[in-house]
Amino acid sequence: MSSSIPQPKSKFVTVKCPDCGNEQIAFNKPATQVACNVCGATLIKPTGGKGLIRGELLGEVQ
Ligand SMILES: [Zn+2]
Repeated sequence: MSSSIPQPKSKFVTVKCPDCGNEQIAFNKPATQVACNVCGATLIKPTGGKGLIRGELLGEVQ
């Protein structure tokens, strides 16, 4: 029998900035706002749970 407990892991996702097209990796459940590294636009807003993604979600990082 396995005694491992499933852990609620935050995932990393690749998000594309809607303003400049920059692609960057960020938490999908950020504690604070995630801004684009290039132009500073808001990419992910914290909601207390799953972040609200403003940019284009390209996929999850394994
Ligand atoms: Zn940008």
